[in-house]
Amino acid sequence: MKILVVEDEIDLQESIADGLKIDGYAVDICDNGEDAYELLFVENYDLVILDLNLPKMDGLEVLSKIRNEKPELKIIILSARSSVDDKVKGLDIGANDYLSKPFDFAELEARIRSLLRRKFTQESGILIYDKMKVNLLKRIVTIGEDEIVLTKKEFSLLEYFLLNKDRVVSSEELIEHIWDSNVDIFSGAIRVHISCLRKKIKTILGYDPIETKIGEGYILV
Ligand code: CA
Repeated sequence: MKILVVEDEIDLQESIADGLKIDGYAVDICDNGEDAYELLFVENYDLVILDLNLPKMDGLEVLSKIRNEKPELKIIILSARSSVDDKVKGLDIGANDYLSKPFDFAELEARIRSLLRRKFTQESGILIYDKMKVNLLKRIVTIGEDEIVLTKKEFSLLEYFLLNKDRVVSSEELIEHIWDSNVDIFSGAIRVHISCLRKKIKTILGYDPIETKIGEGYILV
């Protein structure tokens, strides 16, 4: 899952970005409205955290310009403007949620989880595949009492495959949603991560549920 953090207070921007990276999200950052608008147009984010008071272009303007283009994008407004008016305006233009500053990071995390999950799955945050239990909140995979050790990227790949089960997912799509935009990653590198993940799953389940579709990508069936 890839998130864009738009915030011109650099300390806050960094602390949000660092916290979200620890949670396993791919994170891009940006400190003004114009760049935010361009990035949102070009990149495929799953969610954006959008400050309202921004240089160059106001957050509400970014929101109104991007909403029609990206109906699927989840948007959380983050702002010191705590008046009811701004909140209503933001939600009217199409933000999915609103947090007033100062806020608790745990609260932001919870809102993000709920929005990203709302798209697909059950509230518990646990996905079950055969004998595997994948806990999206704790980011761990267990079989019975045993935990399976996955790297961050392997977990993110598995999560993405499970949330997009029975659909062919291309390498480009995986790169877009799992790696941040500064990382220069090629399909060769992604193949290595996927192959490690598949080996681990195969050891556990006794079979490999991910298939390669030559020239198209991968599918978890
Ligand atoms: Ca600001």
